[in-house]
Formats: sequence, structure tokens, C-alpha cells
Amino acid sequence: MSKRNTIQKQLILNAMNQMEDHPTADEVYQKIAASYPGISKATVYRNLGTLTEDGLILKLNVPGAADKYDRSTHAHYHAVCSRCGKFIDLETDRPLRVDIDDTAMKDFTIEEYTILFKGICMECKNGQTENTSNDVFNIEFKKSKGEKA
Ligand SMILES: [Zn+2]
Ligand SMILES: [Zn+2]
Repeated sequence: MSKRNTIQKQLILNAMNQMEDHPTADEVYQKIAASYPGISKATVYRNLGTLTEDGLILKLNVPGAADKYDRSTHAHYHAVCSRCGKFIDLETDRPLRVDIDDTAMKDFTIEEYTILFKGICMECKNGQTENTSNDVFNIEFKKSKGEKA
């Protein structure tokens, strides 16, 4: 059983390596099912959960849409284009801080939080549709101390 699980996990990781964007569970399933029609959706979903627990992939909560999965597990942020829905990796060496007043959270213990930037990707901004490269999205984080950008 554990060997079978290992093979299933490897199938999922291989499929995700071939997928450029951050796929949803269903997109991962569709990709695998194209080559392995016998695999069930439940199996793919369950293994995505295990891989997330094992820290081999990241699960990204997307408000109002299906969760996405990410093969890149290093610390990075995400932005979603509000026009075309493209999901983009944002690399920054400036870690973001979320400051919440202790008293505001006295009845709640935060275990994790998700930061998702929304905006317009460079292609949509320029009226292009073709995907050129990953570095076309230049985001400038606003300085937090009232400094004007
Ligand atoms: Zn876009
Ligand atoms: Zn990512």
C-alpha cells in the first residue's frame, strides 16, 4: 500500500512539473487522467493533501475560487490578474509583515494567513494576450511607513 502511494505521489509531482501555472486539484487530475485513465479523482485529491502535509507542494487558498497547488515551496507571494485570472509568483527579499493589534485578536489564535495580491498583469495592461516570460510582472510593494512610492 505504501509503495502504491509512493507511485501515486510521484505521478502527481511529475504532472505538476509539466504544468506551468499553479494548477487546481481538478487540473492536476485532468492532466494525470489523460495518461492514466484508471486513476480516480479521489485518489488525486487525497494525494495532493498528503503531499501538502509532507511539505512537498504548497496549497494556496484562493478566495472565491478553487484552491491551487504550487510545486515551488520556498517562501514567495502570489498575485492574481483580475482580468485574465493568471496566477503569478512574486519573489521578494523583503518579507511582508502583517501587524494585527493583540487586543483585536484576543479571542482568536492565528495559525496561518494567506496574502494574495490582485491587480492587472503586464499582458493585460499592454493589451497583449501572449505569455512572454515570468519576469514581465513587476510589482512594487508600497513602503509601509507612509513613504510615497
Ligand atoms: Zn492578465
Ligand atoms: Zn507560486
